[in-house]
Amino acid sequence: MKKLLPTSTAGSLPKPTWLAQPEQLWSPWKLEDEELVAGKLDALRLSLFDQQQSGVDIVSDGEQTRQHFVTTFIEHLSGVDFENRKTVKIRNRYDASVPTVVGPVSRQKPVFVEDAKFLRQQTDKPIKWALPGPMTMIDTLYDDHYKSREKLAWEFAKILNQEAKELEAAGVDIIQFDEPAFNVFFDDVNEWGIACLERAIEGLKCETAVHICYGYGIKANTDWKKTLGSEWRQYEEVFPKLQQSNIDIISLECHNSRVPIELLELIRGKKVMVGAIDVATDNIETPEEVANTLREALKYVDADKLYPCTNCGMAPLSHEVARGKLNALSEGAEIIRRELSN
Ligand SMILES: [Zn+2]
Repeated sequence: MKKLLPTSTAGSLPKPTWLAQPEQLWSPWKLEDEELVAGKLDALRLSLFDQQQSGVDIVSDGEQTRQHFVTTFIEHLSGVDFENRKTVKIRNRYDASVPTVVGPVSRQKPVFVEDAKFLRQQTDKPIKWALPGPMTMIDTLYDDHYKSREKLAWEFAKILNQEAKELEAAGVDIIQFDEPAFNVFFDDVNEWGIACLERAIEGLKCETAVHICYGYGIKANTDWKKTLGSEWRQYEEVFPKLQQSNIDIISLECHNSRVPIELLELIRGKKVMVGAIDVATDNIETPEEVANTLREALKYVDADKLYPCTNCGMAPLSHEVARGKLNALSEGAEIIRRELSN
């Protein structure tokens, strides 16, 4: 990446009102069959247009073709029964009805590869593609087959590696794994979570990223955040091992969060996607607020390794608010670029 401070988003962006209910997470589709297939691709094009209009440097599909960042991927795998549902606690936080693993899991055909090829055809900009991480996948299922979180995670890592290699061949520049579970299960992360992630990126030549956040701005997450005290030091538990890992980029929540920014020192040497946009509020940041967060991060991240980003996905926000936040991100990054060139 030649441009200093290239901007990107953590993942999802709002869907058009004709495709899914706006301002609602995991909203069901409004279209069916061929109309849905065509509608998703139109939405992808619109999302790309918004990102380009806002000056986002590393673009994505805005996750327009998926309803949920984990289950849409799992729906394409065999070995998981979506009729047979059990209630589990997601990341120790909230109950959810989830599908059951009933046999060996495998990927019969590519999941997002055609969508990635479509995005690649639409733009010359670098593109980033998000996949769920192995640990977050196992946390969104009831396992009635492997009876071992670790074993199932290794199986998913192999499957993710197959998909990632095909995404790379389709022209994706950065493959990102979403691992909010890394902020919760510290012992597992250090014992096998990071190793599973490295299995998922094995043999890739494109860049790789892991996104670790405190979640969307939904009530279960904001309630959880209230219990975390005045300083959020979760990152401290996993950063030392991540710093030693083969992952190129670490995507984090920073702006408006209680994460002590000096924790970034623990991953010195890695590229960091610094969350400078709060996705849990409709207030649109000013460019100067974005710049302030980036200035703080620059004390611990070398300028050539700092990638301004959002804290998490923006799917639950209105189109207008999301656009405002994308513009603020670009303008805030530009303030710092000018300062650095002086
Ligand atoms: Zn996130």
